[in-house]
Amino acid sequence: MPAPRAAIWDVDGTLVDTAEIHFAAWTDFAAAHGFPFTRADFAATFGKRNPEIIRQLFDPAADDARCADWGEEKERLYRAATDRAGVALLPGVGALVTGLAAAGWLQGLGSSAPRANLDLILKHTGTTARFTAIISGDDVSRGKPDPEVFLKAAAKLGVSPARCVVFEDAPAGVEAAKAAGMACVGVTFVGHHPADRLTAAGAELVVPSLEAVTVEQVERLIERKAE
Ligand SMILES: [Mg+2]
Repeated sequence: MPAPRAAIWDVDGTLVDTAEIHFAAWTDFAAAHGFPFTRADFAATFGKRNPEIIRQLFDPAADDARCADWGEEKERLYRAATDRAGVALLPGVGALVTGLAAAGWLQGLGSSAPRANLDLILKHTGTTARFTAIISGDDVSRGKPDPEVFLKAAAKLGVSPARCVVFEDAPAGVEAAKAAGMACVGVTFVGHHPADRLTAAGAELVVPSLEAVTVEQVERLIERKAE
């Protein structure tokens, strides 16, 4: 039996494009509290965690309790918006997930999002059975670029980090993968982060879409590390 291999997927911007759902949720949140909220405000939220967003955009003096309350409110609005709009896998993702599974790869999720959001995305995309280890923001104490989320996913899958490939769209996520000792594919599909930033962060392969990525290409990333 060859040693197991694993693909660990970032979710927002990699597996699915949830940006418009997050925009709708923050817009609903801001309207409920009487705050203005623009596209420019939204662009400033990319890659940030809720407490940081809340203090930066809505209340610089918000204490931890208020940030937690408002953060939970926004995530409830996000889940309601997801149920209204639905969410689909990004181009090429479904085929690659299916192809990797057929080739015997184990697969997991490593995301900073709350677990309830991930469960909802899996339900809407019909992929719940594909991902046997799910590590969410609820399971880690340190966000990306700390490798904790990916190391926990690999441990749960029972695969050594050197046999894991991470799929990511953000430089902080690529850095987390590299810090975990994993190969990394960077995807620029949703366009929040340019290709050169993902390459500079250490991604071995950077692509505009996962449509052109084959299982063989992903396998070579692991073989190259073993040389
Ligand atoms: Mg992402």
